[in-house]
Amino acid sequence: MGSKTKFIPQNELDHQLDLCNHIHAFWHEQNITPLAYVETYGCQQNEADSERIRGLLSQCGYAMTDCAEGADVVVMNTCAIREHAEQRVFGNLGALTHTKRRHPRQKIFLCGCMAGQTHVVERIKKSFPHVDGVFSTHHLWRFPEILKRVLFVGKRIYFTEDETGSIAEGLPQLRDNGLKAWVSIMYGCNNFCTYCIVPYVRGRERSRKSEDILRECRELIASGVREITLLGQNVNSYGKDLDEGLDFSDLLSKIAAIEGDFWIRFMTSHPRDAGKKLFDTMAAHPKIAKQLHLPFQSGSSRVLKAMNRHYDRPHYLSLIDYAKEVMPSLVLTSDVIVGFPGETEEEFEETLSLIETVRYDALFTFIFSPRQGTPAASMDDPTPKEEKNRRFDRLCALQNSISEQIHEAYVGKTVRCLVDGTDKDLLTARTEGGRLVRFPGDPAWIGQFMDIKITGSNTWSLTGNIE
Ligand code: SF4
Repeated sequence: MGSKTKFIPQNELDHQLDLCNHIHAFWHEQNITPLAYVETYGCQQNEADSERIRGLLSQCGYAMTDCAEGADVVVMNTCAIREHAEQRVFGNLGALTHTKRRHPRQKIFLCGCMAGQTHVVERIKKSFPHVDGVFSTHHLWRFPEILKRVLFVGKRIYFTEDETGSIAEGLPQLRDNGLKAWVSIMYGCNNFCTYCIVPYVRGRERSRKSEDILRECRELIASGVREITLLGQNVNSYGKDLDEGLDFSDLLSKIAAIEGDFWIRFMTSHPRDAGKKLFDTMAAHPKIAKQLHLPFQSGSSRVLKAMNRHYDRPHYLSLIDYAKEVMPSLVLTSDVIVGFPGETEEEFEETLSLIETVRYDALFTFIFSPRQGTPAASMDDPTPKEEKNRRFDRLCALQNSISEQIHEAYVGKTVRCLVDGTDKDLLTARTEGGRLVRFPGDPAWIGQFMDIKITGSNTWSLTGNIE
């Protein structure tokens, strides 16, 4: 079948895996097990990319460690979505001068979304001479080549050229968790929301072939994974570049048909592309968790237009109405930006009223952060910072009271949960909607689905008991 998406040829991927073997042999000959530390910032897509970086490092003979001190390789997988996150990375990168002084064979790499921005790369070149290599998300699959050149040639390396993007299948992955897995189904974004840097640093939308995704899901479920989260910047446009005649809803149905007891989640959805077919598919399959993260960003149609979101307030609310109609137990979460350039008090009130209408279980709330190179960064922004902070506090207070009320309504109910870990002397579990539950029990239960009676709640989580 045809495809507009570029797939990295197998021989080029095999070459990278050969380089892993060379590096492995280099350390083995010296009787050294080198250590690697990968620090991840930002979203789940970055978490999934870090699992690939760890997979490649593991093939190169590295054992993972949980701090930079004494590590032979440090990789900082960065996020560019907000100014604050970038400043944190620069601060932590600066601190690595000390770890490298104490351990001179340490090699330091910066990758992820920050590595796709020219001004960041220039700053690293000039002000961070202890950084050995920089590579953007497009070049992740070439990490063995980058590492080998840094190790054996000893020169600083920059693999940051702009690309529209490609797909590299079959890279090794070292997953953090045997119970829950991220599965990237597509990369990049075509939407160009005016505040967002992602399309510039992660390239255009490109989908993995469904057979590759299904094979990975089957393997994960056979290995004991109980929760799969499908990842993409805009999962609802999955498949448009592939000519497979399969959209995201069709893909969900195929994954839900795999035998086994598991939940499927996905993120992120875009209100422009999400619709009735998706919600009907979710409603029809018990294995698809009744949880929807549908960012609305603003309750004002004027602001949504300025954000280039391609939907308005009435359309967003009509989607929510339909989703709730076909899935009465649906847990809803969303992203919202406060203080977008030019947002008036009335427009902010529209955001509050949308939150009151929808009644989200939880919100991810952000104050607008201008990103160099995006249209919104040069928009007129007369609202003072203090005013934006005041709006932000009002919005958080409203959402917290809604979350608290929604959580209170769980008390007395028995809900099916996946037991996923411990927190001090309690077990932790997640409801189908992704709500956190703490309860007393036996750590041997981790990995099981269990019915938990909810006995208490607060804004953020629930408590319960096994009856
Ligand atoms: S949909 Fe908009 S906000 Fe989301 S990644 Fe794409 S450009 Fe950024």
